[in-house]
Formats: sequence, C-alpha cells, structure tokens
Amino acid sequence: MSNLCVFCKIISGEIPGEKLYDDDLVTAFRDIHPVAPTHILIVPNQHIASVNDLTKADERVTGRMLMAAQILAKQEGIAETGYRLIVNTGPHGGQEVFHLHLHLIGGQKMRHPMG
Ligand code: AMP
Ligand code: ZN
Repeated sequence: MSNLCVFCKIISGEIPGEKLYDDDLVTAFRDIHPVAPTHILIVPNQHIASVNDLTKADERVTGRMLMAAQILAKQEGIAETGYRLIVNTGPHGGQEVFHLHLHLIGGQKMRHPMG
C-alpha cells in the first residue's frame, strides 16, 4: 500500500527526510539510524516493494539507483576509500521497509562479515 509507505511519504514530502539527491526516477535521503558515518538510502520514486517485484520495465530505474550511488559516494567523499551497497530482501534478508531501497554505507572500514 504505497499511501501508507514511509518512503513514499518522504519522496512526496509528506514527512521530512534529509534528501540528498533526486531526479525523475530515484530519490536519496539519509537513513535515520545510520550504521556508519555515511548511510544513505536510494529508492525508486515509484513504489516497488522489493527486488522480488521488479519487472523488465524497471531496468532503467534499477540502473539509475547504482548511478545515484556513484554520484553520492563522490559527494560524500567516500568514493576512493570505498563503501558497501546493500539491498535487503524479504525476512531472511532483513528487509523492514517494503519499498525497494539501496543502502549506501561508508566512511569507515566495514566491520561485519557478509552473512
Ligand atoms: P531494511 O532493513 O533494509 O528494510 O532497511 C530499512 C531502513 O530504513 C533502516 O535502516 C531504517 O533505519 C530506515 N528508515 C526507516 N524509517 C526511516 C525514515 N523515516 N527515514 C529514514 N530512514 C528510515
Ligand atoms: Zn513506497
């Protein structure tokens, strides 16, 4: 239900978010519970629940999410030191918000193993 979705509300401006980037396809804002000095969420402007809900028509928006990550990493000054991009999906993936999002995390050496 996109009208109840917290990320849809941030995109529309209905609730506040620290927006750092937006274009015709994606929006990026800071995570409210950052796990590292840089923790940004990059989301499609259109409500898509998860990777499981993507269709062929979403190829442009998913590509744009990665391009936005590149721009934001440079903007945050972490492009050279590196960063981690994460897309949690479903219960085992630890997905809590069911509006597709790419976590851009950096500014420190990652401490946690992948699993
Ligand atoms: P995930 O577990 O991958 O679904 O991640 C959801 C992320 O959304 C978490 O890191 C939350 O801290 C973040 N989050 C939840 N609500 C908000 C909000 N209103 N503004 C910014 N980030 C949020
Ligand atoms: Zn949404």
